Amino acid sequence: MVKVTEITASSILVPQRAGSLSGAYDYSINPYAGCAFSCSYCYVPKFPNGNHHFSEWGQWVQVKTNAPELIRKERARVFGSRIFFSSATDPYQYLELKYRLSRRCLEELLLYKPHKLTLHTRSHLMLQDLDLIKSFGSAVQVGVSFTTDDEAVSRQFEPSAPSLSRRLELIRGLHKAGVKVYVSIAPLLPCNPKRLIELIKPYVKKVWVGQMSYPEINNKPELLKEYANFFEPNNYRNVVQQIASSFNSSFMGEPRPVTKKELAVLSSYKEQPLRVSESNLVQPAQAQLKLSL
Ligand code: SF4
Repeated sequence: MVKVTEITASSILVPQRAGSLSGAYDYSINPYAGCAFSCSYCYVPKFPNGNHHFSEWGQWVQVKTNAPELIRKERARVFGSRIFFSSATDPYQYLELKYRLSRRCLEELLLYKPHKLTLHTRSHLMLQDLDLIKSFGSAVQVGVSFTTDDEAVSRQFEPSAPSLSRRLELIRGLHKAGVKVYVSIAPLLPCNPKRLIELIKPYVKKVWVGQMSYPEINNKPELLKEYANFFEPNNYRNVVQQIASSFNSSFMGEPRPVTKKELAVLSSYKEQPLRVSESNLVQPAQAQLKLSL
């Protein structure tokens, strides 16, 4: 059961001065806080939100009902900017059927002409806004998360997210409509890499292949054990490289546990003590950048 709360947000354009989006994007927009897709590996809960403990990730969503109005209010910042939509939620989770919040945000953004807009989702519901998305022309690109070729594995790690066949339907639909689309294979889950490549290669030229990170906040650690052979570092890295090298351009992210700085943030959760050992703490590994999104 997901607890849904309607809230009035104080701002909607989040400046990207640090982190993985900085440099490529000026702002991110998250019409919802929390995410009912509840992926077990999600990195978002390492950033506290209110009193929610990271183990409750997927059980609550806040609906920023005034998000479109905030975009209108902040329109001067939208013009000519580079926006990532969304970095900390899925803008097309099923609540979108009720609230149409992402659609209304996109309608506002279209009026104020961002220079670059990247939409990111795991959800075929985006197809209902295809005409609107096409209206952004060359300014828009869509990233679709497609993490394995195996539906059963996806159900284990991403139990509430749309099926892989639905995501493939989205990738195909975007490709057919002439919308720039790339696939985010992040984190790569246990798969048959040859089949995974064959499934998506007809539709995309670019992929982002990321490895499993943040084991400390993975809410299904038993799966990491069940698939220990696949996640064995040498094997995992080889599969990631095999996939990345099969595409014209790719970004390969390195896995990493939480850093000391992030640990300090995580420790601010009050409900449960964190069990993270100092020996697990490392600085973010260098990523090999081959693609600039
Ligand atoms: S869809 Fe994205 S934001 Fe939502 S739980 Fe999965 S990884 Fe996290």
